[in-house]
Amino acid sequence: MYDIPPSGHEMLATDLKIAARNVQVYYAETHALKDVNVDIADKTVTAFIGPSGCGKSTFLRCLNRMNDTIDAARVEGDILLDGQDIYNPSVDPVQLRARVGMVFQKPNPFPKSIYDNVAYGPKIHGMARSKSDLDDLVERALRRGAIWDEVKDRLHEPGTGLSGGQQQRLCIARAVATEPEVLLMDEPCSALDPIATAQVEELIDELRQNYSVVIVTHSMQQAARVSQKTAFFHLGHLVEYGDTAQIFTNPEDPRTESYITGRIG
Ligand code: ADP
Repeated sequence: MYDIPPSGHEMLATDLKIAARNVQVYYAETHALKDVNVDIADKTVTAFIGPSGCGKSTFLRCLNRMNDTIDAARVEGDILLDGQDIYNPSVDPVQLRARVGMVFQKPNPFPKSIYDNVAYGPKIHGMARSKSDLDDLVERALRRGAIWDEVKDRLHEPGTGLSGGQQQRLCIARAVATEPEVLLMDEPCSALDPIATAQVEELIDELRQNYSVVIVTHSMQQAARVSQKTAFFHLGHLVEYGDTAQIFTNPEDPRTESYITGRIG
């Protein structure tokens, strides 16, 4: 379907959402990410695992050009979304981030109402023609964020007044409100208690029906629970990538095996 050199990972072209080729990231002189090649599938949860500092978040941020916001960061190589180079100068990063949404480690609702948190993206992207259009969009996003029932009677109260787990689901609703195709999540449960974590994990599983979801997690149990594909990073290299079940039961690389058995990391 696309004229992209093979990544070494087999995938049907129709399943391919993002192709990364020869990606390098430098922070000033530090070579943080080294020659990463990977295919990320549509309607699949892909987990990035590996010891702290191995480059997981750095690579995640490459996928929607969030590294553009870090002065010292320099990205080389190609990242293709549906076959289009997202680093092409003609690509507007704001539009790109509407297509490739992001949820952060710490829930970060705007200091606005629940409604306005979700309505903000659709408004700036001109997605609603009328107030009732916008109301519908907000409701749909909050339903997708699995938080509608909890907030429908308090839409005009501040988002910051919700519990941590509710705030994170609000942030997921905010991210899906612009109808993204890919959802990036950087340790989305690390600030949550076990019950809220379980709710967000369940939500991730539902989101995969509509989106390509990429999640950075320090928890191997979480990767095993929520993902179908796993990429293991170590010291800036993507060491191994494959079906989650295979990575966790029969890894090919000794470094992956050491990590999953707890010998490194
Ligand atoms: P992980 O997400 O796996 O913990 P990171 O992607 O955060 O790893 O970090 C990879 C490497 O890049 C680390 O050595 C880290 O110190 C460095 N790094 C990350 N962010 C920055 C930054 N904003 N400025 C300079 N170095 C950074």
